[in-house]
Amino acid sequence: RGTIALVGRPNVGKSTIFNRLIGQRKSIVEDTPGVTRDRIYGILDWLTLQYRLIDTGGIQIEDQPFSEEINMQVEIAIEEANVIVMIVSAKEGITSDDVAIARKLKKSNKPIILAVNKADNESLRMNIYEFYELGLGDPIPISGAHGLGLGDLMDIAVKDMPDQKIPDYEGITSFCVIGRPNVGKSSLVNAILKEDRVIVSDVQGTTRDAIDTPFKFNDKEYMIIDTAGIRKRGKIYENIEKYSILRAQSAIERANVVLVLIDGELGIREQDKHVAGLAHEAGKGVIIVYNKWDTVEKDDKTMNKITKEIRAHFKYLDYAPIAFVSAKTRSKVNQLIPLIDTVHDYCTMRIATNVLNDVILDAQMMNPPKPHNGRQLKILYSSQVAVEPPTFVLFVNDPELFHFSYKRYLENKLREAFGFVGTPLHIMVRKK
Ligand code: GDP
Repeated sequence: RGTIALVGRPNVGKSTIFNRLIGQRKSIVEDTPGVTRDRIYGILDWLTLQYRLIDTGGIQIEDQPFSEEINMQVEIAIEEANVIVMIVSAKEGITSDDVAIARKLKKSNKPIILAVNKADNESLRMNIYEFYELGLGDPIPISGAHGLGLGDLMDIAVKDMPDQKIPDYEGITSFCVIGRPNVGKSSLVNAILKEDRVIVSDVQGTTRDAIDTPFKFNDKEYMIIDTAGIRKRGKIYENIEKYSILRAQSAIERANVVLVLIDGELGIREQDKHVAGLAHEAGKGVIIVYNKWDTVEKDDKTMNKITKEIRAHFKYLDYAPIAFVSAKTRSKVNQLIPLIDTVHDYCTMRIATNVLNDVILDAQMMNPPKPHNGRQLKILYSSQVAVEPPTFVLFVNDPELFHFSYKRYLENKLREAFGFVGTPLHIMVRKK
């Protein structure tokens, strides 16, 4: 899976094109409560493959001159993407900003495709020729508004995509550490890698992505995703929330388990919710890590009090265990890896169909669904259809009768019966 970035000056139509390409992706998580919908990063299905698409226009810095902003967007595109699509406008023609962006892009060694947007009709399409002047090769006419030429554009983007060494972490538990700036992500990664039994090693037989760090603990292999991004000092753009969210999203995608860090010194902040929402939405295993525990003045009630606070702020993450650690003193850091193992085991757990049906049947008998307009929901048969996250399909007499609160009830029953610590559960209904 490769990454394509859209760059260009404002108003050339980047987000229209972005939305066209991403479309209304129907995902299996359709029935989880929406948390944050980020608009600059999406997954694009093309032919049989999936690509990441970034609209760099959505990444903005406040109180900076416009030229700074454009520079940053171009730099981020060069850093994050395998293929860059520069967008210009057939209606407005070449502008000095276009020239500046093209010049900057040409200094990178990434494949660059020049797309001329707003080529809505034959006469506008004639305007593409002036863009040869940018020195980026053949301009491709497209129209985001009318959905024209996007297929051709994608074909070229995919053809230009360098061969990806797809990291294969099969059989290895991978995890990432996310959180807003200064929560202690790099400190925690370093603390984990300094644990007594950790051996940092190249994992044999895998193609290893340069930014991920493999290590062994108690003879088991693990992978910390995007360690480079975390450990790199002078993280220039990290303070731009959208950019750090984009980085987090791509790390979460590749991880089995996500550690959501909270700064215990400052307490829970609004931005923590965005970050935690990403982990939940991705359907990955989640552990909430309350860091800087050393700075918290505590008595025997503190942990309970903070646990309640966390539960109240992150209601949708009620399945995530909470760990209280200090990356600085390394207190409790050694308990994280066993916890990651536990969570990953639950993420991949398969329940035998007969056992599952017994639990669902019991749950129905103990607390039958309330009739709705005189009709009652009947769950006739259930089956687990996927892992990571465990996904269940319930075959029912009428899906319309399946109330949200009953789903919640069944989820709790499944957790009571099987644990499922740290993993979201997806429950879907189908008409039998
Ligand atoms: P990042 O931006 O999330 O990677 O955060 P850093 O790892 O760079 O840490 C930010 C600051 O918090 C640094 O000054 C760290 O020394 C400090 N810090 C990190 N973890 C802890 C901790 O557990 N306790 C205390 N007291 N300080 C910490």
